[in-house]
Amino acid sequence: METKQFQTESKRILDLMINSIYTHKEIFLRELISNASDAIDKLYFKSLTDESVGMTREDFRIDLAVDKQARTLTLSDNGIGMTREELENNLGTIAKSGTLAFKKENELDSDIDVIGQFGVGFYSAFMVAKKVTVVSRAFGADEAWKWESEGAEGYTIDACEKETAGTTITLTLKDNEGEENYDAYLDKHRLSAIVRKYSDYIRYQIRMDMEQSRKKEGTEDEYETVVENVVLNSMVPLWKKDKKEITETEYNDFYKEKFYDYEDPLRVIHSKVEGAVTYHSLLFIPAKTPYNYYTKEYEKGLQLYSNGVMIMDKCADLLPDYFSFVRGLVDSQDLSLNISREMLQHDRQLRAIEKSLEKKIKSELSKMMESDREKYETFFKSFGLQLKIGVYTDFGQNKELLKDLLLYYSAAEKKMVSLAEYVAAMKPDQKYIYYACGESIARIERLPQTELVRDRGYDILFMTDDVDEFAVRMLEKYADKEFRSVSSNDLGLESEEEKKEQENKAEEKKDMLTFLKEALGDKVADVRLSSRLKSHPACITADGELSLEMEKVLNAMPTEQKVKATRVLELNPAHPIFAVLETLYDEDKDKLKTYISILYQQALLIEGIAIDDPSAFADEICRLMTEKA
Ligand code: ADP
Ligand code: MG
Repeated sequence: METKQFQTESKRILDLMINSIYTHKEIFLRELISNASDAIDKLYFKSLTDESVGMTREDFRIDLAVDKQARTLTLSDNGIGMTREELENNLGTIAKSGTLAFKKENELDSDIDVIGQFGVGFYSAFMVAKKVTVVSRAFGADEAWKWESEGAEGYTIDACEKETAGTTITLTLKDNEGEENYDAYLDKHRLSAIVRKYSDYIRYQIRMDMEQSRKKEGTEDEYETVVENVVLNSMVPLWKKDKKEITETEYNDFYKEKFYDYEDPLRVIHSKVEGAVTYHSLLFIPAKTPYNYYTKEYEKGLQLYSNGVMIMDKCADLLPDYFSFVRGLVDSQDLSLNISREMLQHDRQLRAIEKSLEKKIKSELSKMMESDREKYETFFKSFGLQLKIGVYTDFGQNKELLKDLLLYYSAAEKKMVSLAEYVAAMKPDQKYIYYACGESIARIERLPQTELVRDRGYDILFMTDDVDEFAVRMLEKYADKEFRSVSSNDLGLESEEEKKEQENKAEEKKDMLTFLKEALGDKVADVRLSSRLKSHPACITADGELSLEMEKVLNAMPTEQKVKATRVLELNPAHPIFAVLETLYDEDKDKLKTYISILYQQALLIEGIAIDDPSAFADEICRLMTEKA
């Protein structure tokens, strides 16, 4: 008989399971039961449209049996079963199981304790078994197959006999070894407790023969032991249970097992809605961004159940993109099971549920922001970017819904604040919501453009995400206060008089400014006197719609077309350098050209924009440094 090898990935996980020192080995039972339940789901779903299945919901079951002599534990289901190919593909390799996705993200071999915090799958059987035998017959097939493995050596597949469709898994338990007592999994009371602990909500009967002590008929106090085949689980899905009866641990375990996360969710949103549409929903807000979240690979969606039966694993229509991080499920009896998936997408009921969920999620996030700011900030670190993208996309259609959920770094407070908080703290004479964009908080801190605004005692929101300025432009206002970039032309800080004075001064220096602009050629659209600078000699800003930050973002995109913001060099007339420029304008115009070129390039560097020719820039400075005074 030929022994086949496991695929490499599978073998690594298998090794991990076989050598597991994990203390909660009992979770293997949860894994096998959940696979059995999945297999039954498939056949049950089929039975709704295919009469040849000939079974009703009550006919489906999962049976447990123990044989103490042989040290075996057997688990059978009458679900969809597996063909020879499926046995080979599903048990010989790990295709897309959650385990693999998890493993990729965290090289986990060293940290065995993460087992049990997420679905580990079929191989977990090897934590307790030295031999695993799977006998399966696929629904509609007329042959059955036996898959058998004693671990890392590989597995065998042979034809065998099985009367009906379904799968029977027999575990030959490991020998007891020191502290490790595998006999525990031959103890029916223990097994029954494990089932209740992890698999109580499984919607099909999980049965086992149990010895029960019963009063002997016709006697007063004589007891006899009878064997009864009992149902071990309550079969009420968690989401249909009363909130009050569910512990936080139950919610968390359910989430981690079902949605392959290894961390508890930040928030659980469990609701029952009755009215125009009736549904139960159990939603979770994850704590961390999934490794592929901001990529095309990430698939949003909620599990969709119709009366306890899963009809779709990732129903994208239930979640708007800006809440795509939400995981969970919706169960509604209003949805017809017979409709095809295509039709489902246009289902009016589904729309109504989506709208209702959206409101719910928004209000839960607002509550979290209000009552548990620390948690909300954790959330925002993971998914705030998604909310900002949501403000900006679809022509700003959803900005009203999302704007209250945003947080930005406040220069004055030195922490994250909401827009409402910013506006509430505005000075009475402050007209605008000021913001500044840049690569990092530290970098923005040093932007010359922020000087005057801060000098007035106005707070500035520091924005470091690419999408920030686009989103802010889309928002335009918050609570009737306009957003204003610290780099914009009009900061709204000067009085009419000050403006007039400024204009006069510019008029006075007009000749020099024109000369400087010409010296810089087409690098800038204008050279101006600045009113926003305090201690810096110069800064670079942009005229018009496109800011320098936006230019950077757009040009970093993988498109051919590049954009260029209209650059303006602003000079600080109060800075000593300005006086030097004025002197040179009268005495040495060539040197003035060098100076203005240096000032321009310095301004670019401060702004975080690469200069065209760094070595020429360095040479120029060296030349000045070696010049005789
Ligand atoms: P997952 O359940 O995450 O897919 P598992 O390792 O638990 O990963 O199971 C691997 C696959 O083996 C399942 O996806 C399923 O196709 C198949 N399988 C496991 N147990 C059964 C069963 N009792 N009946 C039918 N198929 C099964
Ligand atoms: Mg599984």
